[in-house]
Order: sequence, then C-alpha cells, then structure tokens
Amino acid sequence: MTLFFKGGNFGNVSFKYFKDQRSRFVDRFSKRGMDVQIALDLNRLMTDKSYVAALDERIETFKNSSLDFEISMATNIVQGVEGILYAAIDYVRDRYETVIEVLPSVVRSFNHSAKHGDKLFEWNDMLTRLAADPHRFKNKFHFLQGDVSHKAFHYSVVSLHQGNMYMSPFIYENAQLHTNDFVVLKENSLVDSILNKKQEIVNSQIKKSVDKECGSCKYLNICANRMVPMIMDTVFDGRKECILNKDVIGLYDDEVYSGNSY
Ligand code: SF4
Repeated sequence: MTLFFKGGNFGNVSFKYFKDQRSRFVDRFSKRGMDVQIALDLNRLMTDKSYVAALDERIETFKNSSLDFEISMATNIVQGVEGILYAAIDYVRDRYETVIEVLPSVVRSFNHSAKHGDKLFEWNDMLTRLAADPHRFKNKFHFLQGDVSHKAFHYSVVSLHQGNMYMSPFIYENAQLHTNDFVVLKENSLVDSILNKKQEIVNSQIKKSVDKECGSCKYLNICANRMVPMIMDTVFDGRKECILNKDVIGLYDDEVYSGNSY
C-alpha cells in the first residue's frame, strides 16, 4: 500500500510494517490528513474470500485509527481485468465506500524495444471499449486524464532517483522517467528549481507543437503541463500523432469534473 500525507508521499509500506510502526505514524502524522492507497488484485477480490477477509481487516485497522485516514484502492491492468472491472468498481464502492484508481502501467513499455509503447496503445483501445457506454464510464470509472485540473497547471510531481530529481509526466498516471530531458537542476531554492524546469518544458512543448497534432489540439495547454508532447518528442522519437485516447478525454469536455466517481 502507499501512504500519502498532506504535502508529500511517504511511499510504499507493507500493512505489517504499518501495524508494527503504528505509534510512530501517530506521533509523526497526527496533525496531518493521511491518504492510504491499497493495491488490489481484482481477480482475487472477486473470487477469493480469504483475500476479501484480509482486505476487510486492513480497512478496519485504518477506520479505527486515531489518525484521519482517507482510503482508496488502486489496481494495475492485467489479463482478465477488463471484463470484471465495472463489477469490481461497484463492489469496492458498496463494500468500502471508496474508488478504484486504475493504473495501467503504460510507462513500463517505454523501453525502445520492438514492442515499444504497445501497452499504451492497448490501453487506449481498452478505454474505447470501457467507454462504449459513456454514461456508465463517466459515472463509475475514475478517469483522471479527463479531469482538466488533475496533474496540470497547479501541480508538479517529481521523483528522486540516484541522487537526482526528475519531473514526472502524467500519462494516465505519474510516469517515472529518469532521463536528462526531465532532470531538475538544483538552483538556490528547491521550489524554484522545480517550477523553473516545469515552465521551461511547458514553453518548449508549446513552441514545438506546430508540426504535431498537438499544435491544433484544444488540449495542448493541459497536455503541455502534463508533459505529454515532451514524451512524444523524447520517448517516442518525435512522433507527431497523439498518443492519448482523445475521444474518451472528450467525454468530459462539457462538464466540470469533480475528481471522483461515486
Ligand atoms: S497529446 Fe494528444 S490530446 Fe494532448 S495536445 Fe497532443 S494531440 Fe492533443
């Protein structure tokens, strides 16, 4: 599971570690809101009673804690999940009153192999199928790429790797890419370093968008802040065509997305 507190990400910890260190967490975070995200195996969630019992125990532990926890669930997309995804979303909403955040792990296929990027395009196709009933999709699916405020103008995500800091693009989820294109060079102030790097990337993407599909796209400003065109320039070696599913993103054009799917 992943623990977030207001202002930062504590990182991945095991449930056992959390229970063993509970008093330490209380001392350290008792004045801050906490967010805990539990990774789910949807196949087991829907078929394995012992798995659900263990999950119940975890949820109860957080509910009974003196800390102020919010709980969400996350899942990767693996074989067989597409057919049970909506049933799992309903199950989690009814049983635990929370959402499932789908993390398709598309960035893992950004490796310049022969099948480079396949997972991203498979995910785009899966989104089209999941959104065949737009009403159901919009009411049940936690689709962050359709939320124009999520990970865009007011938000910078960074990752640390071997002593360096890198900007994290948002391609359906935060991407950890540790290449020079995204490295943050340290200036006097850490915040200035991050904001300056983000501004540099955003401006350069907008300037270089003319010969790409992005140049005439209404989502350019949002995507530039999420660093999507930069991914097309770097990871996809100057690809000109969109790498996202714009039809599904477009389902949210006429509304203010509230960021949840209750
Ligand atoms: S990445 Fe796709 S959705 Fe984003 S600006 Fe470019 S063409 Fe538009």
